[in-house]
Amino acid sequence: MAQAKTAIVTGSTSGIGLGMAEALAGAGMNVVLNGFGDALVIDDIQRRLTGKFGVKVLYHPADMTKPAEIEDLVNKAVEQFGQIDVVVNNAGIQHVSPIEEFPVEKWDAIIAINLTSAFHMIRLTFGAMKARKWGRIINLASAHGLVASPFKSAYVAAKHGMLGLTKTVALEGAEHGVTVNAICPGYVKTPLVERQIPDTARARGISEEDVIRNVLLGAQPTKRFVTTEEIGALAVFLCSDAAASITGTSISMDGGWTAQ
Ligand code: NAD
Repeated sequence: MAQAKTAIVTGSTSGIGLGMAEALAGAGMNVVLNGFGDALVIDDIQRRLTGKFGVKVLYHPADMTKPAEIEDLVNKAVEQFGQIDVVVNNAGIQHVSPIEEFPVEKWDAIIAINLTSAFHMIRLTFGAMKARKWGRIINLASAHGLVASPFKSAYVAAKHGMLGLTKTVALEGAEHGVTVNAICPGYVKTPLVERQIPDTARARGISEEDVIRNVLLGAQPTKRFVTTEEIGALAVFLCSDAAASITGTSISMDGGWTAQ
């Protein structure tokens, strides 16, 4: 039997990252979970994935703003599993504020977590993937990697940057069996989105119900949130051999948002 592949998913204690970790575990991969959260809840996730799919699950609490902790995450994952085959750069935060009031420390944190951590994860795992002639890097960008919305300067800048990083590294991996792609979801109802509803209401001077109806789903022609299961299934496909020629691209899963 072929050795199980190993995937690191950053920011996988919640939301989309957890959905992708679950889908990759469901496809038979060992998974390295990362992110913040209650120790008991994280323990529970580990036990659930191991029990349900019979794969090995490691958790590492690396803070994605800290390069030394990111390096420790990669080292511990290699120690435990021997090699890393799949890296999913998913950890992300949001802050909604007009540019003239945008807190400098929020800008720095968003660029560090949503963009720079992907650079570190890739630089630390890419050489070994190239040497083995197989690897998959999946960067969680966003519809906001392709188009902007007001009051999200740092997030939109980071996500556009993620697409530039994706294209560049795809070219570097192209002859070595390593594909690098970005997924650009529309709105998914996760804690990240739920938290920004009150801020958006304040910034635009409208009610929270109006934010959901007219701002979030207003942009999405399907008029429903994208699901974490849909994104997980796309991640599994990108890891398959059928996706070997898909590289350097961004795949929108946004209910038609960026078609307008
Ligand atoms: P979420 O808040 O549910 O999950 C974010 C994850 O990142 C959590 O596990 C959290 O602990 C982790 N995290 C945050 N800061 C961290 C840090 N410093 N170090 C390590 N981990 C950290 O958010 P989500 O909606 O699931 O978002 C996941 C990704 O998907 C993000 O990159 C986000 O920008 C992107 N995205 C989300 C949506 C959406 O509508 N929810 C749409 C498009 C793209």
